[in-house]
Amino acid sequence: MTSNPYPLGLRLHGRRVVVVGGGAVATRRVPALLDAGADVLLVAPELTPALRARADAGRLHWVPRRFAPEDLDGAWLVQVAIDDPIAAASVSALAAERRIFCVRADDRSAATAWTPAVTRHGPVTVAVLGGGDPRRAMTVRDAIRDLLAARLSSVAATPTPDRSATSTPDGPGAVLTPDRPGAAALNPDGVGAGAATGGGRIGRVALVGSGPGDPELITVRGWRLLTEADVVVADRLVPGLLLDELRPDVELVDASKIPYGPSRAQEEINEILVDRALAGAFVVRLKGGDPYVFGRGGEELLACAAAGVPVTVVPGVTSSIAAPAAAGIPVTHRGVAHEFTVVSGHLAPDAPASLVRWDALAGLRGTLVILMGLKNLAAISRTLIAHGRPPQTPAAVVQEATTGAQRVLRSTLDAVAADVLAADLRPPAVVVVGDVVHALDG
Ligand code: SAH
Repeated sequence: MTSNPYPLGLRLHGRRVVVVGGGAVATRRVPALLDAGADVLLVAPELTPALRARADAGRLHWVPRRFAPEDLDGAWLVQVAIDDPIAAASVSALAAERRIFCVRADDRSAATAWTPAVTRHGPVTVAVLGGGDPRRAMTVRDAIRDLLAARLSSVAATPTPDRSATSTPDGPGAVLTPDRPGAAALNPDGVGAGAATGGGRIGRVALVGSGPGDPELITVRGWRLLTEADVVVADRLVPGLLLDELRPDVELVDASKIPYGPSRAQEEINEILVDRALAGAFVVRLKGGDPYVFGRGGEELLACAAAGVPVTVVPGVTSSIAAPAAAGIPVTHRGVAHEFTVVSGHLAPDAPASLVRWDALAGLRGTLVILMGLKNLAAISRTLIAHGRPPQTPAAVVQEATTGAQRVLRSTLDAVAADVLAADLRPPAVVVVGDVVHALDG
């Protein structure tokens, strides 16, 4: 075949796509079809466990037998994902007879359609065909993906008159309406989701979890939005390396430098988010770990919503799980702990404002993960022991987890507070109490 392929974006939502074969190739192809909303009919005597799980979940129709001509009834597209060239050729001949495009894993030159190598960036999909050479396509795709992650993203974030909440060309806008804060809070993306108001366009806010400390532990979406930001409002616990890579024209607000007490400072942060967004900026509020784990993310979301600013939330890898993991401690382990509880140690156990039932926590057998707990660690461990947790329960403290400065201390519940003082451990640190501390010891 010498002529060039003609590229198309197939809109498969609700349309029948037949996949023949249930092995490794089908396993790789099916997710993108489901993501496109296709009505997938999978014809194969056997499925890989991953495909089986999707079939069991009702995400696709599985016909547990070999291909039969009537399987093509109503199909818009066929993907042949079997090795047997004779069987593949007969499917593809039947498809051609019915004018159904057919992708063939076994013989690209015989196929009537090729699947490109793809990279997606929010609403933008880049599809690369390598002239029949999939490796060439992937190499080019990888280069484009890197380029987009670093550059084009900034173009995407620049407000332009033709981009508004109602005119996002490739999908529904991601607008959070003030009266329904939960509805769109965790939507796939915010690109192009600013709302038009009167004369000017307003921007939007993304509450992004930065992960526990290692800059590589931010999510792919979080990283992309960060590269698109006009304004970044960062917490103290945010990995510095992430901020080093911001474009020079990005306004960086260091939220930890805001004076006043904590509640006034929070109001100030809310105001900065809202003001900048109302002025048209795309604001990324970058928060350590996960935005909703002791991160006051909910307050910021409500403040934006109250001001009519569209806001999205990007979850993060929380230190409550990642810090123990970085010290070789799984928060659950078969036969050791069937629960883990994350609790703030910010207030002393006897503080009137404390919402934590330490007496009840003392009765749990599983893992207790205490954040912000160093200052009150002596009182916390005393209270847990007084209410029945055995004094010899293993305990560990992980300081600055996943960073180059990480320190780990292993102890027991009755000794951990004194050991922390002796070792001069400092915040940020996570305290883990429970038998999981030794679960992976050799
Ligand atoms: N939203 C954050 C937690 C904010 S509260 C998250 O999901 O991780 C701040 C507390 O988190 C710190 O006092 C400390 O207990 C914990 N913490 C955050 N990052 C940490 C790190 N890298 N190592 C150890 N503890 C950390």
